[in-house]
Amino acid sequence: MNRIKITPRMRSLLITAAKLAQKKAYCPYSRYPVGASVLTDSGRIFSGANVENASYGLSLCAERVAVFNAVSKGAKGLQAVCVVGKSARPCGACRQVMLEFSSKDTLLFLVDLDGNARKESVTVTKVVALLPKAFDPLDSGLLPPNPQNLLRGKIRKHSKPSKRRKS
Ligand code: ZN
Repeated sequence: MNRIKITPRMRSLLITAAKLAQKKAYCPYSRYPVGASVLTDSGRIFSGANVENASYGLSLCAERVAVFNAVSKGAKGLQAVCVVGKSARPCGACRQVMLEFSSKDTLLFLVDLDGNARKESVTVTKVVALLPKAFDPLDSGLLPPNPQNLLRGKIRKHSKPSKRRKS
């Protein structure tokens, strides 16, 4: 993975994408809109908003929507994550999901928006810093050293017709 330099312009694009996503939040129950964006290894930005449900447990946080959006479009790794909201802090579940696709260098921008005072403050940290002693699929033996290769192999296996069946 090549490290992408997060320029002030890139940071601004990430924050803007998260703010635009926040406007799409479906949160009639909590009334707590959150927007998130991710910068992938290929330099693309994907975003997501929290989507709630009448059956509360089915709701999904903005961070996971953004990560799953990126991964479902082919992203393999994250260079940066941005979360926008009032006292924006990823929950434990989102921290674990972000870590799955992060490196030790993946940046995390936490943008606190106070709607009433119209104040904005940005905290810069790293995804790994938010989840010490995280569950590690490599340490636990669940995955080989490069899980992406395993996934690619599986996709290839199912997408190509078997030659044995033809002969
Ligand atoms: Zn969450």
